[in-house]
This record gives sequence, structure tokens and C-alpha cells, in this order.
Amino acid sequence: MPNKAQNIIDLEQAHVVQSYVRPPFVLTRGEGVTLYDTDGNAYLDFVAGIAVNALGYGDPELTAAINGTLSTGVIHVSNLYHTAPHAELATMLCEKSFADRVLFCNSGAEANEGAIKFARKVAYEKGKTDKTEIVTFTNAFHGRTMGSLAVTPKEKYQKPFAPLMPGAVLAEFNNIDSAKAAIGPKTAGVIVEPLQGEGGINPATPEFLQALRALCDEHDAVLIFDEIQCGVGRTGTLWAYEQYNVTPDIMTLAKPLAGGLPIGAVLCTEAVASAIKPGDHGSTFAGGLLVTGAAKVVLEKVSQPEFLANVREVGDYLMERLAEINSPLIKQVRGRGLMAGIELTIPAVNLVKAGFEHGLLTVNAGDNVLRFVPPLVMEKQHIDTLIEKLTVMLEEAANA
Ligand SMILES: *Cc1c(COP(=O)(O)O)cnc(C)c1O
Repeated sequence: MPNKAQNIIDLEQAHVVQSYVRPPFVLTRGEGVTLYDTDGNAYLDFVAGIAVNALGYGDPELTAAINGTLSTGVIHVSNLYHTAPHAELATMLCEKSFADRVLFCNSGAEANEGAIKFARKVAYEKGKTDKTEIVTFTNAFHGRTMGSLAVTPKEKYQKPFAPLMPGAVLAEFNNIDSAKAAIGPKTAGVIVEPLQGEGGINPATPEFLQALRALCDEHDAVLIFDEIQCGVGRTGTLWAYEQYNVTPDIMTLAKPLAGGLPIGAVLCTEAVASAIKPGDHGSTFAGGLLVTGAAKVVLEKVSQPEFLANVREVGDYLMERLAEINSPLIKQVRGRGLMAGIELTIPAVNLVKAGFEHGLLTVNAGDNVLRFVPPLVMEKQHIDTLIEKLTVMLEEAANA
């Protein structure tokens, strides 16, 4: 019998640009927090489409919202016209955050492009045409488009694509002196992840984010929090910044916001929004009724106090159980809520690959950190299964 998965993999290898290395199985369906491949193998999912599938697989209300939109016959109308879910989602985001206004887009990188443009426009409107710099930090990840790439200081990502957007200035993450040296009169904006994701699950210290707030105020610069990975309940509060006593001027969202459909959002204060005029920015697809209708369900569910309390409880349990694993390969356990990482003495991809054999999906964050960003509906029993599998995998890797 010809192998169904192999046929699909052969097509991918022959026709898809090889910008990703994919494992040798083909996913077909999901239920709860588990994905299944064409051979019926089950995978407990600690990736969630890279911190995207907050409600897991087959959430009835999310499915109903998407089906409800489809039943109207309208999938898209563009930003030339009003639609209800677009306005309603923006209202919900403002009510549940520091923000006064929202601009929608289609991805995380696009949200950060929007944030960079907004920061520059704020300065431009004040007549400060040389106030164009965007300060970013070591180990940051803000995306792969030319602007967002310029503030993603990783040589492997940047070097082949030079010249990048001018005006990006690098400082050291969690180093207040370094931030002080980088932020000045020419700074239009400062972009930072309160909890760095791709860079290795590194939490910002409260002192650092508070210092950035003060420096931005001092130099009339816009403070941008990239909560694309750490926002929408991931760290146990709806927004990661809530745990820091600091509010930004702009916050970017994407990954989990529409439960798996592509969306991005730039949330901002009125002071920022008032610098933006019709024609300054736009997108054909952004904020469409299918995705914003889905996002309303995600935001409503995730923002319930009981939902967030469960993320904190299961997240604490995850951290505890990870810290209990006794392996010479583990250097450190880090994270908050259901965003955790273990720093290893070996390449994390070794364990990602081993996970496939054990029915476990994990993903690396940088070279040496194994990352856990599961659906936010994970339960303690799933954490127990993870720890069992991981303990065996680490033993096997240590003996290899
Ligand atoms: C994933 C990510 C991005 C980029 O999002 P895309 O949707 O892949 O463009 C930006 N910032 C952070 C913190 C991310 O985790």
C-alpha cells in the first residue's frame, strides 16, 4: 500500500520553497489538546501552532462563530466598509486594556510594522523629522518583514537581507544602563517583549520595563510592548504588562488572538492614534469579519477570571514539575503561566525530534531552549503526561 503521508511529503519537497524543515508525518485533525497524523498517531501538543491555538482544537463556540459568519455568504468585504465584528472586537480590546484605539492587520510582523510607522508618525506630526530611531534589545524577535527584521537583532535572520530599515538601535535586554545610552532625542519608539519568546523565554525584570517607561517619557518616545506571543492570557493575566505596573503607548498582538485564523492588531493610546490620518496605513484583508468574529470568542473566553486563574494554576504546576526533573542536560527552567522553556546543554531540536517518536510536540526557542506554549486549555493531567515523556526523552538523550 502506498504511504499516504509519504506522497504528501514528496509533493512538499518538490514544490514548496524550502524555508522550513518539517518532520516526516502529516497532520490531519485535532481534538482538545491533541493532534493526529494520517497514520492515526496522536501528539500531545505543547506548540499550539506556535502559541496560537489558545482554545485548542474543536472549541464549539469558536467553531460556531466561524460557521455563523460563513453562513452569511460573506467572507470578505475589505476595509472600505463597516462590519459589526470589526467594530465590536476593537471595542472589546479597548475595554480590556490600556488602549483607546485599535488598528487590525494580518500577522505579528505586520502589527510591528504598523507600530514602527505609528511611532515615526507621532514624531513627524510634531515636526521632528530626525526623530526616527527605533530601539530594540538583544534576543528580541519582532518578525521577518524588512522593518520588523531590522529590530530583530539576529545575524542569521538579518545578514542575507541587508540593507535593512535604517534607524534601528540595539541595546541589551534587561540592562537599564544600556537602554539609557540608546534612548535619546532621536528615539521615535522603543520596542520590547515583556517576556521574550523566540529569543529563549526570557522575562523582562519589572525595573527594566519601568525604566523604559521613564526613559520614553523623558525623551518623548513611544513605548511599544510586543505581546504577540506573551499576550492574550498566555502568562496568566490577559496582558503580560499587567504584572509589571507599566503601560505602553502601543501594544502589538497577533498569534492567539483569533484562535488560529491570521490576525494582527496594533493597540494604542489616543495620543498615538491622533497622529494617524486616513491613508497613512492600510491593508486589504485586515480586520475581516471572519477573523474578528472568531477573535471576539477567543477574547471573551480567555479574559474570564476563571479562565485566567486556570492558566496560572496549570502554568505554576508546569513550572514546578519541569523544575523537578533531574537531568544533567537541564541548565535552567524559565517562564510564566503557560509560556515555559528549559535551557539545555544540547541543541533543543534534538529533543523536539525525539518528541515526535514519543507523541509529543514541542518547539525550540533559539538554539538551546526547549519551549512549551500549549493551548491555554491544558489541564494538569496533560502536564503529568508531558513530564513522563520528557523524563524518558532526557534520559535517552543523556545516554546517547
Ligand atoms: C511570532 C512573533 C512575531 C511575528 O509574528 P508573525 O505572525 O510570524 O509575523 C513578532 N513578535 C513576537 C514576539 C512573536 O512571537
